[in-house]
Amino acid sequence: MRLSHGFVPTLRETPAEAQIASHRLMLRAGLVRQTAAGIYAWLPAGLRALAKIEQIVREEQDAAGAQEVLMPTIQPAELWRQSGRYDAYGPEMLRIRDRHDRELLYGPTNEEMITDLFRQGVRSYRELPQNLYHIQWKFRDEVRPRFGVMRGREFLMKDAYSFDIDYAGAVVSYRTMMLAYMRTFQRMGLKAIPMQADSGPIGGDLSHEFIVLAPTGESQVFYDAGFEEIDWVGADYRYGNAEDLERFFKQMTSMYAATDEKHDHAEFTALAESRRRSGRGIEVGHIFYFGTKYSAPMGLSLAGPNGQPIVPHMGSYGIGVSRLVGGIIEASHDEAGIIWPDTVAPWKVGILNLKPGDAACDKMTEALYAKLGADALLDDRDDRPGAKFADADLMGHPWQIIVGPRSAAAGEVELKRRATGERATVSPDSALARVLS
Ligand code: ATP
Ligand code: MG
Repeated sequence: MRLSHGFVPTLRETPAEAQIASHRLMLRAGLVRQTAAGIYAWLPAGLRALAKIEQIVREEQDAAGAQEVLMPTIQPAELWRQSGRYDAYGPEMLRIRDRHDRELLYGPTNEEMITDLFRQGVRSYRELPQNLYHIQWKFRDEVRPRFGVMRGREFLMKDAYSFDIDYAGAVVSYRTMMLAYMRTFQRMGLKAIPMQADSGPIGGDLSHEFIVLAPTGESQVFYDAGFEEIDWVGADYRYGNAEDLERFFKQMTSMYAATDEKHDHAEFTALAESRRRSGRGIEVGHIFYFGTKYSAPMGLSLAGPNGQPIVPHMGSYGIGVSRLVGGIIEASHDEAGIIWPDTVAPWKVGILNLKPGDAACDKMTEALYAKLGADALLDDRDDRPGAKFADADLMGHPWQIIVGPRSAAAGEVELKRRATGERATVSPDSALARVLS
């Protein structure tokens, strides 16, 4: 994109309503604008980051064998009456009536709808296991929407639902998603720690929240540094292999991790001091086994091996896709602005033309822009170099290629790595080679 004709309304001033770094930076860098309490419009830069995060989530769900569907945002109240949740859900649910006076709602989650779809389409236990997911907007009328997209009312969630013939099968599905989550968050440059969560009477120990550290997090967390050191993407655990998944789960649960509600001081301090990590954390994902909580009341029943009915055991697996945009910024920023991890940056490279109109600058920046394509943002605005430096740091491109009249005349550019501040004067070709590697 050419910034001279791009809709990236950056702000010099810190917006007064924003209490936390990610919210301030998302407004200042022109990623989002609030349109009503807890409801945001995504502008080009914000949408690009959101889409990249969504795509990583999708690739890892697909790799783990989940199938993508897309369910609507609007749901009939009738389905929720079948599970008994329509009245139980409370004021967080946005209830709507259509012109025929039919009761609808804006979905806060999709257990009922997926169970309904599944009971219409699957007949035999032989078709199990299956895991269906979608990435769709949700609405929850939060009492106190705050911190920007971190606790919005309308937000984008990936929610997956697994169906297994029995508990043992559900355990495999659960571990599969857990591994997929570790890989997903790692690819976004995040260290997300799974913490056992309360799961009510049914779940047993099969409920984990994935927490990333952020000073403004809503809960205090404690964990073993081991979580930060393991390469989950590269680890040789195979999906579809129950032994690998068990080995993975053991490795995972052998390390200490707890939120303050479940924290065991003695167990934590038994760890060597250098291995203890603690801080505030925010929940970016939640996985949950809930047995036949929806399948039983909603009459989802399949023919079993001897013709006897089987009620599938289910689990659900959420990721806060829009919350992650804020979460990643919380985990990766400095005084000057956002520091995007390469994989989720709206643009991987910012090309700064410090003197538009200067023939050498124009020629060199245009050539770079043509080679880098959609992953580059060309700052070709008629503005002071200082403003361009400040905006590039604020927007947080992982790489900056800076071209001024002197360097252009010498056939060189300045290459800057945002995360380290490291700069080097190099040829345009070697700058390209570095950023594309
Ligand atoms: P929380 O405890 O933060 O209220 P939750 O437990 O109600 O979240 P889930 O139903 O587990 O949330 O939803 C799955 C994921 O969706 C959460 O892990 C979180 O990342 C995200 N999420 C939930 N509520 C919001 C919200 N109001 N705004 C943005 N993301 C949200
Ligand atoms: Mg939760």
